[in-house]
Amino acid sequence: MKQPVLVYANDRGEVMNHDVYLPTGRTGSFLTDIEPSEWIPLPKGATLAWLPGTHVIGVDPETGQMKKLSDRAFAVGALLPQGFTRLYLPGYVKRGKDAETLPLFGYTAVGWLDGQFVVAADATDNPDLWDPSAIGEGEVELAVERMLSAHPDNRLYEHLSHCALTYGCLTAKNTFLGRLEGALPISSTCNAACVGCISEQPDDAPFPSPQVRLKFRPTVDELVDVMLTHIRSNPEGIVSFGQGCEGEPATRWPDIVQAIRRVREQTADGYININTNGGLTRPLQTIVDAGLDLMRVSTISALDDHYNAYYQPRGYGVKNVAATLRYAADKGVYTSINYLVFPGVTDREEEVEAMVDFLRDNGVRLVQMRNLNIDPEYYLSKIPPQRGELLGMKTVIEIFRAECPGLEVGSYTHVPPIKRRV
Ligand code: SF4
Repeated sequence: MKQPVLVYANDRGEVMNHDVYLPTGRTGSFLTDIEPSEWIPLPKGATLAWLPGTHVIGVDPETGQMKKLSDRAFAVGALLPQGFTRLYLPGYVKRGKDAETLPLFGYTAVGWLDGQFVVAADATDNPDLWDPSAIGEGEVELAVERMLSAHPDNRLYEHLSHCALTYGCLTAKNTFLGRLEGALPISSTCNAACVGCISEQPDDAPFPSPQVRLKFRPTVDELVDVMLTHIRSNPEGIVSFGQGCEGEPATRWPDIVQAIRRVREQTADGYININTNGGLTRPLQTIVDAGLDLMRVSTISALDDHYNAYYQPRGYGVKNVAATLRYAADKGVYTSINYLVFPGVTDREEEVEAMVDFLRDNGVRLVQMRNLNIDPEYYLSKIPPQRGELLGMKTVIEIFRAECPGLEVGSYTHVPPIKRRV
C-alpha cells in the first residue's frame, strides 16, 4: 500500500507537503511510523491546525531515519468531527520547554496522498448524524430567531442561541432545529476540576477554556419548556442535561427530578439523558428513579491514580462512578461512557484490562470514543507515568468488542434499542 508524504506549515500557517519524507505519528511521547492501512481520507467537517512551538519530524524513505525539518517548518494537526477515533498524534517535538502550550483541541496526525489529505484515524461511528456541514447556511439563524420570538422569557434559549451561533455547538443548534439531541445546561458548579475542562480553567492555566460556564440558574419551568418543545418536534429526540457550557448537572438534582416528572406527566415520547461525571451517586440514583432514559458518564480511566490526576474529583472516586453506572444499568437505563481517549495512554495494557473489567462489572452498553482535547505535553505532565505494553488504539476498540458481549463502540449518544419502561 502506498504511503502518504509529510504535511507541514510555514510560519504564516500555510500548509504544504514534503516531496519525499513520510509522516511520523506520536503515541504518548514516542515518535513512530504509521502503517499505510492506518490512514483514511480527511473526513468532511474536519479542520487543519498549525501547531506553533513545534519541530516537524519526518522519515527519509531511503534510510528509514527520522529527520527534523528546518526551523521555518511547523507541525500540522487535524481536528476530527464526531464519528472518528484518532490513532496517532502529529509527529513533532516541542521547541524547548518554554514552547507555548497548545489550546484544547484533539490534534491528529495528517499526511498527503494522491492529491488529498489523509489522517491516522478509525471511522468508529456513522459520521453523517453529526456532520456540521449537513446543516444549511442560514438555517440555524432563522430557527434561533423563530424560537426566541416564540419563547421570549426563556433565558435558556437566549443562552443556547449564543452557544449555537458563537461556539457553533451542534447540540445547541439541534435544540433550535428540533432534531436529534437537544441541550439542557443547568449547572454552574462542579464536583471535579478536570485538567482539560472546556467550561472552566483556573486563572493560571496556560490556555483558556473554549466555552464560558452558564451564569444563571435555569428554572424548572424553563427546562420543561425546552424539553417539551424538543420532544414535541421530534418524538424520537433526546434531551440532554450536562453540556460543555456548564459544570456537573447532578449538583442540581432536585430541579432535574422535578423537570423529568413534569415532562413524563405530559408525554412518554423522547428520551431524557444526563451527561455526568457520575460522582454524585445518591443524587444520580434519585434522578434515575424519576424516569431517566439514558446516562452518559465521562471518564478517562478505570485506574484510580490516572482518574484522580485528571479529574481532580472532590469527595468521590472511580468506585462512586462505578456504583452510579451499576445502579442505572440495573434500573434499565441505557448507560454509556464518554471515554476521553489518547494514543499512548488509553491503549496501555493496564488501562485496557482495567477498563474491560469496569465495562463488564457495571453493565455499560455503549462506549463513546472521544478524542481528548488537550496539549499532549501538558496532559502527559499531569498524569502518572505510563506503564505496560502499547496495544494501539484500533486494538483497544477490537478488544472492547470482543471482551464485552453486547457492548457497542461508537462516538456519540445513540437512541437506545429498547425504551425504558418506568
Ligand atoms: S466534570 Fe465536566 S464540568 Fe466538571 S471539571 Fe470536568 S469537564 Fe469540567
